[in-house]
Amino acid sequence: MAGILFIISAPSGSGKSTLVSQLRTLVAGLDFSISYTTRSPRGSEEDGREYHFTSREEFERMVAAGDFLEWAEVFGNYYGTAVSALAHARDAGKDLLLDIDVQGAVQVMKKLPQAVSIFILPPSPEVLEMRLRNRSEAEQVTSEAVIEGRLAEARNELKRIGDYKYALVNDVLDQAVAEMRAIVLFERGARDGVQAVAESCRTDAASPRLSSAL
Ligand code: 5GP
Repeated sequence: MAGILFIISAPSGSGKSTLVSQLRTLVAGLDFSISYTTRSPRGSEEDGREYHFTSREEFERMVAAGDFLEWAEVFGNYYGTAVSALAHARDAGKDLLLDIDVQGAVQVMKKLPQAVSIFILPPSPEVLEMRLRNRSEAEQVTSEAVIEGRLAEARNELKRIGDYKYALVNDVLDQAVAEMRAIVLFERGARDGVQAVAESCRTDAASPRLSSAL
């Protein structure tokens, strides 16, 4: 049975990373594609866990070799999804989740129109700005021009929301995670039939509170 490809995008400041990591602990059978990037590791990030950290030369070599399903330049760094992630998930009998920016998402939607795309929105423009400023502060980015650039980029990304199949607001974390889980299970239901999904839910590590979202 073909796996489902889920694409998740959000402007930075939408709180996507926490959402995605919680979803992964709650839904079984979901593989997460580890992207390649030329940016440097942040904080406790490790090579091969959050990203495959790579040089620009190596990245460009991979582009030329056709190793990427999609790739894009985001905030001056390259990011890309390896084509091999698809085969890896399929061989493991899993669905695959891509956490990629809007430019990459549009490329994947064109190549694989059956992919299920989800756009994550911040609760309000004010919260988006606050989260972006907090993140910039944590990264010791003090230049107002850089921060304004990030805000403009985020506002631009918001304009692409209409290209996505689903949109959800990341206001209350638990609720947003429950909604994402419901989308995954709904899409599996459409593919496998509801009975098969009910069977697989028994092996999910879902908390009783979240399972009410079904
Ligand atoms: P960060 O550097 O904060 O981890 O990610 C910056 C942006 O790059 C986020 O919007 C994230 O979704 C996006 N991103 C991460 N991996 C990929 C990828 O493989 N391809 C594309 N197109 N974007 C990615």
